[in-house]
Amino acid sequence: MKYISILGSTGSIGVQALDVCGNLGLAINALTANRNIQRLEEQVRRCYSVMAADQCPRYAVTADPELYHELKTALADLPVQVQAGMEAICEAAALPENDIVLNAVVGIAGLRPTLSALEAGKDLALANKESLVTGGDLVLSTARENNVHILPVDSEHSAIFQCIQGLSSPDEVEKILLTASGGPFYGKKQADLEKVTVQQALKHPNWSMGAKITIDSATLMNKGLELIEACHLFGKRPEDIEIVVQRESVIHSMVLCRDGAILAQMGAPDMRVPIQYALTWPRRAPLKTPPVSFRELGKLTFGEADEETFLCLKACKRAFDLGGLYPCIANGANEAAVTAFLQGKIPFLEIGETVCGAVDSLRPDGEGNSLSEILEADSAAREYAAKRFSGKS
Ligand code: NDP
Ligand code: MG
Repeated sequence: MKYISILGSTGSIGVQALDVCGNLGLAINALTANRNIQRLEEQVRRCYSVMAADQCPRYAVTADPELYHELKTALADLPVQVQAGMEAICEAAALPENDIVLNAVVGIAGLRPTLSALEAGKDLALANKESLVTGGDLVLSTARENNVHILPVDSEHSAIFQCIQGLSSPDEVEKILLTASGGPFYGKKQADLEKVTVQQALKHPNWSMGAKITIDSATLMNKGLELIEACHLFGKRPEDIEIVVQRESVIHSMVLCRDGAILAQMGAPDMRVPIQYALTWPRRAPLKTPPVSFRELGKLTFGEADEETFLCLKACKRAFDLGGLYPCIANGANEAAVTAFLQGKIPFLEIGETVCGAVDSLRPDGEGNSLSEILEADSAAREYAAKRFSGKS
């Protein structure tokens, strides 16, 4: 039996991952959440009501130490160890029984658990793209040193990964065609976006996801983060990656091979497919997914990403070119800006301006080879954003 810990189980990816684990009959070692301990309790209880006892979670962890007693009381009747705090989430990632860890935490909060899983020699199914964006070199070198795999869960990166499985060497890839839906504001210009509300930005045309990534999709920051993620995962430079808007999100990404052949991975927009592939790789297991009818679709619609309107995308490319800790700066500024936007404190367009402003004006110390440097750069970016929002920058 294969054992897994699911970090961020109460989120959009986490919930679908539990469904996939049920489908695959995996044993769940640990489930972790931030503050939604009600959902965490429900998830643990559901496991104990439908799964064999030896497949049920033995650890339930909240990131918030203040919720420890509440969670402990809630699960007192079950043979589950309750823990709290980031250290405990890292321990859940490193449990000796884990065969694989799924990291579906949102934001840079996922970086430490990513490193813990890799340091413990665990294969990592990675949804938390912010780990790679903020700590790319450190994450990759930790994976190499511990001889473990990072299996992409992000649908585009899973698609690229699936496309290259049949090649004799990754060098046969000339170019990556990273697809993007374009988000809810595709075709709009800056003047149209001045008064965008939180509700409008939270309406993604094709995917239902957590709030942060949904806003990232509306600003195209998500594509910028994914570009950096793809550079790290597949050893490419931004100029080797073309962003192709694919409005229906049916083509999840493509690779152009050096003989001119283009390989694409397609399917209905359903995250359970990349989640499951990361857990079963190199094999495929059955999964009931919505069918794609090309006859009903009639056509696939393509377009171009507009970097003049969506500043985040340009800022991410620039951050990657500057190298070192700049992607971490871009990410930290974005996390702060998205939180402020969701709280109604700043307008939509301020997100892109904040990310660009941080990348252009901050000069982070170090190359990003240590966790402390990365966390310092993240703090500097958040401070920059906070000053900007209070009008003091
Ligand atoms: P959600 O916001 O839906 O879920 C995030 C999860 O992380 C929740 O379990 C949340 O707990 C937990 N969490 C939040 N903050 C912390 C923290 N400080 N410490 C520990 N745990 C925390 O996000 P998504 O599921 O949408 O996304 C997760 C990751 O996957 C992101 O990096 C995203 O970019 C990536 N991704 C998501 C896709 C999707 O379809 N949703 C597609 C591709 C990639 P709680 O519920 O208690 O707040
Ligand atoms: Mg994606």
